[in-house]
Amino acid sequence: AAMVKETIRVYARVKPLGRRQQAGIYSVDDDEKSLSSLEIIMPRDLADGFVNNKRESYKFKFQKIFDQEAKQDVVFDNIAKPVAECVLAGYNGTIFAYGQTGSGKTFTITGGAERYSDRGIIPRTLSYIFDQLQKDGSKVYTTHVSYLEIYNECGYDLLDPRHEASRLEDLPKVTIMEDPDQNIHLKNLSLQQATNEEEALNLLFLGDTNRMIAETPMNQASSRSHCIFTIHISSKEPGSATIRRSKLHLVDLAGSERVAKTGVGGHLLTEAKYINLSLHYLEQVIIALAEKNRSHIPYRNSMMTSVLRDSLGGNCMTTMIATLSIDRRNIDESISTCRFAQRVALIKNEAVLNEEIDPTLMIVKLKKEIQELKDELVLVTGKQRTSELSQEELLQLDELIEAFLEDNDPDSTLDVGADMRKIKYCFIRLKQLMNDSKISGEKLLLQHNSEEKDTNKEVGKEELKKLKELLKQRDNEINILVNMLKIEKKRAQEALFQLNSVSAGSTALEQPLWVNLEESQSPASSFSLKEAKDFRSSVHRLPCLSSQTGGKTSLGCQEAFEVFKQDHADSITIEDNKELLKQR
Ligand code: ADP
Ligand code: MG
Repeated sequence: AAMVKETIRVYARVKPLGRRQQAGIYSVDDDEKSLSSLEIIMPRDLADGFVNNKRESYKFKFQKIFDQEAKQDVVFDNIAKPVAECVLAGYNGTIFAYGQTGSGKTFTITGGAERYSDRGIIPRTLSYIFDQLQKDGSKVYTTHVSYLEIYNECGYDLLDPRHEASRLEDLPKVTIMEDPDQNIHLKNLSLQQATNEEEALNLLFLGDTNRMIAETPMNQASSRSHCIFTIHISSKEPGSATIRRSKLHLVDLAGSERVAKTGVGGHLLTEAKYINLSLHYLEQVIIALAEKNRSHIPYRNSMMTSVLRDSLGGNCMTTMIATLSIDRRNIDESISTCRFAQRVALIKNEAVLNEEIDPTLMIVKLKKEIQELKDELVLVTGKQRTSELSQEELLQLDELIEAFLEDNDPDSTLDVGADMRKIKYCFIRLKQLMNDSKISGEKLLLQHNSEEKDTNKEVGKEELKKLKELLKQRDNEINILVNMLKIEKKRAQEALFQLNSVSAGSTALEQPLWVNLEESQSPASSFSLKEAKDFRSSVHRLPCLSSQTGGKTSLGCQEAFEVFKQDHADSITIEDNKELLKQR
């Protein structure tokens, strides 16, 4: 929300007393551009009456000073009109008059009864506000007024119709209620609706009459009571749920005069006590607000400061009028009024635009919007849209979902158009299908587990591959050996063939070989005859036995052993076993 941060504006108004009485006591330096200054000059004879008072003149700065001849309309235009404008825009506003009794507070705030032109700020503001409201047709305005009098820390409703019949003490007291958000609510203070200027003025008149009734038996009670006339405005644009609420307090404070203390020797002391205790608390609040980094502001000490809490350092545009009756007798009171004004001028307020949303209005607004959108949809689609999908549409969707689920194409999409109801239905349906296939979900889980086994397999596969390679290598080696063996066998057969053909007629060569073998294989008795014969027959085939070939004996032995193995009875079994082993 928009926020306006500004200090409290402080004005001064000097009451007409006749030039002669005030001659030479004060002077006004009215600067159109910047602040105006008021100088109060202490007459020599009076200055002697003050203890420790060496000064002869005092200067005070004000936003503007309205001297004796300033008329009510000028005061209104300068002081009240800008505040009224802010209130109409939705900000809170306060104008309060502060000064000693008889200085012109009531005259300034309410006005004089003798002449129409003496109307004060309240009637002029009401007139201005209702004028503006009538001119502004863009918003719907509601105005109420309340009129509160605070006397002796008790609040009274000046608009209570029982005022005329009852005594002040018998009326229900206005009390302060604080909600959890620390907002102030006033119990027993009536808010009277005023639809036009006349109604509002009648209420003001009623309140002022009640104020006078209360005054008479109490003797000058009015000087000790505070009166707060409040205009409550709420506004909203037609069709909008946002409401702006603002208040304008127009405050006529109790007389600020103090009981002057008489010092030693009958001298007057500048330090004096307020007659009215709540004004003392008001000053405390103002001193606290003017201090930097002061976190606690004692608003709660009095009813008046509680009611005006927002106006003092809070959410409000606040203006003060210091009313002065500057004659010889009132110099000290005038100075203290001006001093108070200087402190008030230091207070910074933060006026916030008071906007809130009315929930019932919001519902009405939203319902209207929904109907408008539905109508628009009908217009665009040509179909009446209900909140439910038809049975036919649901069936169609089911088919689409089924087709979508069965489509193996990973790029396939489920297109149901831009109808949110259909999209929602599809999601619900898919969720149902998901839940229904819990068993298949478990299957999925199983599959997941077997995948874990696969990783084990993966490790096995790797090992298997290695073993297979090793086996292949061995196979190759064996093949090479077998081939070598075959070649050698062939050669041996050829050699034997040659040998046989050479020694066809003679065994002479055979004999010494035999003998040689006989010698090397000792003891000869260990050979059975059959074995010996077998050995002989196999030796026959040996190719390199011939000294002619010059064969190496060791190789020859190995080869002979191979031949022996092949001719052995178990040769086939061994070969089979070997084959088996290879396979493994
Ligand atoms: P207060 O409310 O501060 O006690 P009042 O407003 O009652 O003082 O003023 C005291 C008297 O002086 C009243 O009769 C009032 O009409 C008169 N008075 C005050 N201010 C002016 C003014 N600016 N012009 C003419 N008369 C005034
Ligand atoms: Mg008065």
